Amino acid sequence: MGTFQALVLNKIDDQTNLDVKQLTLDELPEGEVTIKVAYSSVNYKDGLVGIKNQMVKSYPLIPGIDLSGTIMESTDERYQEGDEVIVTSYKLGTGHSGGFSEVARVPAAWVVPLPEGLSLKEAMVLGTAGLTAALSVDKLENAGLKPEDGPILVAGATGGVGSIAVNILADRGYEVVASTGKANQEAYLKQLGAKEIIHRNEIVETEPQLAREKKWAAAIDPVGGKTLQYILTTLKYGGSVATCGLAGGVEVATTVIPFISRSINWLGIDSVMYPMDKRLKAWNRLGGDLKPSALNDEMVIEVTLAELPKVLRDILEGKVRGRTIVKL
Ligand code: NDP
Repeated sequence: MGTFQALVLNKIDDQTNLDVKQLTLDELPEGEVTIKVAYSSVNYKDGLVGIKNQMVKSYPLIPGIDLSGTIMESTDERYQEGDEVIVTSYKLGTGHSGGFSEVARVPAAWVVPLPEGLSLKEAMVLGTAGLTAALSVDKLENAGLKPEDGPILVAGATGGVGSIAVNILADRGYEVVASTGKANQEAYLKQLGAKEIIHRNEIVETEPQLAREKKWAAAIDPVGGKTLQYILTTLKYGGSVATCGLAGGVEVATTVIPFISRSINWLGIDSVMYPMDKRLKAWNRLGGDLKPSALNDEMVIEVTLAELPKVLRDILEGKVRGRTIVKL
């Protein structure tokens, strides 16, 4: 291969730019495995990296925290040319060039063999968002959650993590209540399996002392901030919330009261440093019993490298619905 295309974030004299460039293989970082990328996907974190330049360890950087593709070359004996693989997490797309590229080179320790039951495309419809939704459901169920316990609130429901969480929970028989800021997306959320839709404002405008009704058996929360405050106040006795994101803010005001009077569980979800043995199990479940039924329908749009800068801005403004994948 002579040259290939990638979206490159560079910084010269305090000025950053994000452009599609023609690169050669020797411009990629060190790593044991070189991959012909088939698909990448767009996550909120890619917006933080590409547009706000947060978490960028050095320039130039190819953003893209997710990729799937076929191995071109491997110096690690576990992997051979032609193997289909997924790479997400660790420093991919933040401290090491990532998936917005026709070719990527990564450490073998980051590679996940494509699980049975998923195509390279489906793996990126899921991507980090799907892994995070699956880890959230898994942790809630390990805390004892069962469909008969009552309604589950999913916040940021039209986003990537939110959409997949709604669909996985509904597929597993849970009664899902979806919270969204997009009033016109009721039909979409119902198609994913949500039973009821509530507007985000209902949540953020509820003063903690007024949120008396204890309705939720559990919640999955990619939003944080006031949304999480509301959830902590309104979980039922023994209920759990899986905190997995910060799209609405990082600060959360709470007291110890919900924990000591209602015995609620505040569960943290991290996909980035999630241990590889458990990560392989989670991906295998995403190709099996946790595979969302709506993966290839309404949930997905496909874009090119050249369209990415706009999509990255849109995702930071909460304008993107479901999952956006990048075809390389
Ligand atoms: P998306 O942008 O696809 O989804 C976020 C959704 O949150 C939006 O679509 C919107 O949904 C809602 N939202 C956006 N802005 C606000 C706001 N100001 N107030 C309330 N709600 C808002 O992002 P992702 O699904 O990729 O990621 C979601 C979050 O999860 C991010 O914070 C991300 O960093 C985090 N994350 C964490 C991971 C981990 O390992 N813990 C892994 C992956 C993601 P709606 O309009 O329906 O309300």
